[in-house]
Amino acid sequence: MLLVVLLQILKLIIMKNILNPLRITTTIAIAAFAIPNTMVAQQAANDFIEIERSRILVEDVLSEEEQAALTPNQVFESLQAGNFRFVGSDLTARDHSIQIRESAEAQYPKAIVLSCVDSRVPVEDVFDKGIGDIFVARVAGNFINDDILGSMEFATKVAGAKLILVLGHENCGAIHAAIDGAELGHITKMLKNIQPAVERSTVSEGPRTSKNRLLVHEVSENNVRIAMEDIVKESSLLKEMVDNGEIEIKGAVYDMDTGAVIFLK
Ligand SMILES: [Zn+2]
Repeated sequence: MLLVVLLQILKLIIMKNILNPLRITTTIAIAAFAIPNTMVAQQAANDFIEIERSRILVEDVLSEEEQAALTPNQVFESLQAGNFRFVGSDLTARDHSIQIRESAEAQYPKAIVLSCVDSRVPVEDVFDKGIGDIFVARVAGNFINDDILGSMEFATKVAGAKLILVLGHENCGAIHAAIDGAELGHITKMLKNIQPAVERSTVSEGPRTSKNRLLVHEVSENNVRIAMEDIVKESSLLKEMVDNGEIEIKGAVYDMDTGAVIFLK
């Protein structure tokens, strides 16, 4: 009888979610004196994921020697592999407090990613990377301007990164606004940077509005391609590094539905 009452109380507490995990744990621990251990274990297994201390990555901050030994293609493969883990919910467990201390003196990231500001594109997570692994430049619509180019030149020529990745994404508000010709404050001027991609997109099916998913997709890809072209057109320094094989430039679009990064050919 006591067992039944205790189980009912536990069920009520957890279903209504009225107590924080610590108090629920405490309640289960107290109940453990009165009910069989196997039942406690079963309940606990539903609420917690245990990770062995040895599986938490603590020394993954890239060193100068490791960065220098990397080729652009190895970095590309590392980003691809990280995205596979992200899509498969197999992210690396990291101890951030140790990584912060280890990277405090210097940084040797392997890539710079230009992304949109969109909150649904957490760049480090998308590539399963930690502190000190990648530079991230962000501007709504992931287009190129002088400040972004300066950041890319710093990341590669000065800090040694081997890959530049322009990462667009599906359902981009900036792309939608550029297609629809939205005007508001500084947004009006910002969207002019995306207009070349709108003009290059010539899908014949459907209206030329942001409601046309085919058009939005085409503009997203063209916007990435134009950014990749602008990098070598506007920065002789980066073009020379590409020509010498020191760095590579890649483009991709992030799929909101699956979490997959689709690299452009
Ligand atoms: Zn966006």
